[in-house]
Amino acid sequence: MKPAPFRYHAPETPGEVVGLLGEWGDEAKVIAGGQSLVPMLALRLASLGHLVDLRRLDELRGIERRDDDTVWVGAATTQAAVQRSEEVRAAVPLLARATPLIGHFQIRSRGTVGGSLAHADAAAEYPAVALTLDAELEALSPRGRRTIPAANFLNGVWTTALAEDELLTGVRFPVWSGRCGFAVEEFARRSGDFAIAGATVALRVDPAGRLDRCAISLFGLGPTARRATAAETALLGTDPLGTDAEDIGRLATEDLDSVPSDLHGSALYRIRVGAAMVARAWHGAVQEALHD
Ligand SMILES: Cc1cc2nc3c(=O)[nH]c(=O)nc-3n(C[C@H](O)[C@H](O)[C@H](O)COP(=O)(O)OP(=O)(O)OC[C@H]3O[C@@H](n4cnc5c(N)ncnc54)[C@H](O)[C@@H]3O)c2cc1C
Repeated sequence: MKPAPFRYHAPETPGEVVGLLGEWGDEAKVIAGGQSLVPMLALRLASLGHLVDLRRLDELRGIERRDDDTVWVGAATTQAAVQRSEEVRAAVPLLARATPLIGHFQIRSRGTVGGSLAHADAAAEYPAVALTLDAELEALSPRGRRTIPAANFLNGVWTTALAEDELLTGVRFPVWSGRCGFAVEEFARRSGDFAIAGATVALRVDPAGRLDRCAISLFGLGPTARRATAAETALLGTDPLGTDAEDIGRLATEDLDSVPSDLHGSALYRIRVGAAMVARAWHGAVQEALHD
């Protein structure tokens, strides 16, 4: 199948982009890497009158360490650029480790950070990473700029807090310092497929050896990535050496509702896989925090 006809726009500034989005409303969408949008258009799962291409917007690309102890990643930065970045590897290891799990290198060469977050697939890695690290998303609209905490960004299946005329311009990932550990684990049927279930963990141990920061996120296990807050609360203040990774996996997944059930696996199967992914990620993150 071929996409329905549309008008193509290639503006040069973010202001022009949001001007076009404001003018055409739900008839228009931005296109970044096209790795999710183009298949949807080609299959006519989406049909649009206007496509607004971000390819000329250099200011939406780049990776910078900022003075406020964040790493800023421009929304149109490709996943491949994130994977190559020494800055990301050193300062935001969870983002670096999640990136090679996205599709194949051809997809990561075109697919962008902002596209992945704005598309908000329930099984995508970046929304879970942003949630885990308490990232902040920068958005621009004809009404001005605003910052959206990752916790308020994901609304449901392929749905975010972005308004129709809003452009994601960048993401600020906080740099966690101290004795920290980070891990991402997922299970997919074939390398490069979306995960059946996955988990990200970030934790920090204080000088007395107790957990003073802990974040666990799940993906592929509901309409959006989500934090396992009950498990996090139970773990804060404990000695990570005294924790049982399998118990944590069970605790993190026991209150899940709306787990998908399809030909790739039943809800029960996904929950079991999710618990195992939490356990593996927990183990890896604890090892890193205590021994590296
Ligand atoms: C075979 C295959 C396997 C894949 N596997 C995975 C995987 O394992 N994990 C994973 O996470 N992803 C996977 N993907 C998706 C891939 O990561 C996409 O790159 C990503 O979902 C979308 O990024 P994009 O830049 O291509 O966005 P596009 O396809 O261009 O856009 C996607 C959506 O985001 C919106 N959008 C894009 N940029 C912005 C912005 N700056 N502001 C506001 N809205 C914006 C668009 O309007 C559109 O609605 C896979 C894709 C394919 C084809």
